[in-house]
Amino acid sequence: MKVIDSIRKAQGPLFTFELLPPRKGGKIDRLFNTVGELMEFEPSYINVTYHQHEIEYQERPDGLMERKVVQKRPGTISISTALHNKFKVPVVPHLICGGFTREETEDALIDLNFLGFQNILALRGDPVSGQKRFKPEAGGHAHANELVEQIVKMNQGEYLNPNLKNTSASDFCVGVAGYPEKHYESPNMETDIYWLKHKVEAGADYIVTQMFFDNSKYFHFVERCRAAGIQVPIIPGLKPISTFKDIDLIPRAFYIDIPNELCQEVGKCETKEQVREVGVEWTTQQALELKRYGVPALHFFTLGQSDNIRKIASRVF
Ligand code: FAD
Repeated sequence: MKVIDSIRKAQGPLFTFELLPPRKGGKIDRLFNTVGELMEFEPSYINVTYHQHEIEYQERPDGLMERKVVQKRPGTISISTALHNKFKVPVVPHLICGGFTREETEDALIDLNFLGFQNILALRGDPVSGQKRFKPEAGGHAHANELVEQIVKMNQGEYLNPNLKNTSASDFCVGVAGYPEKHYESPNMETDIYWLKHKVEAGADYIVTQMFFDNSKYFHFVERCRAAGIQVPIIPGLKPISTFKDIDLIPRAFYIDIPNELCQEVGKCETKEQVREVGVEWTTQQALELKRYGVPALHFFTLGQSDNIRKIASRVF
């Protein structure tokens, strides 16, 4: 089922979560376990992230360094297929602009269509490690709105080669990312929302937000989006703090604030188990408030761990 149809039919917020493909060489069984442990909460759909190639310098036997292009977490489409076959739950593979030419994007869309996927989360992707600015592939998309446009065109049976005859139309529901604390490259929130509106006008059916730890950020964001004329559902993304390091790493990696009260609670912890409990309690309170507010879904970034999401889900759903 399409995400947008699940949202329209739902009586209360949907339970949904995101998984990362395992690192190269890892097993898929861990993902299966994570999903298996969360199935009792009847997820409406599961997202699988896409990871662009990275540049690595590996030492050769002669001592010189060799530049290698590596993909550390391959397999988004095959993992999405395997999860769908095993759990019979809709899966939303992420698709990014980075590393793809338009032709390669078209081929990925054809694969996804043939495999029966009806949902895609369309993203630009971050700059490759070591690069400051995002560089599109030659002949690829520079921003997510262009990727949305390409998907929408294929939904209308329009392919890159205008000479193709009797083309079939895909029927993808498209989600895009939104940032309650602003995307880090945007000079201000107005500009960020201006471009977010472009993605919606290009045909995005809904928005999923970056994680946030202070619900007022989400509430203000939704207000500003509505004031700017963005009417599609805006799904909040939530991640429980799970390690001491999260307090340092999350603001740096995602350019978001962690409220002082949450930092202080983590600061009082003596063990990592206590930190996980603080994270569970904080996110549970966030989720309960968002549920009362009437959000369309609660979307959890699991990072492959289910114990904390299970605890939260058991208190919220
Ligand atoms: P865009 O919408 O292109 O926006 C990027 C920046 O450019 C913003 O500052 C925006 O204001 C501006 N902008 C947008 N359109 C235009 C335009 N046409 N002209 C000029 N400026 C413009 N990354 C991955 O690599 N893989 C994943 O699986 C993944 N999953 C994610 C899931 C969620 C829910 C979220 C919130 C993020 C995810 N990301 C993922 C991270 C995402 O790729 C990065 O945040 C990236 O830097 C921006 O992606 P975007 O799709 O929002 O880009």
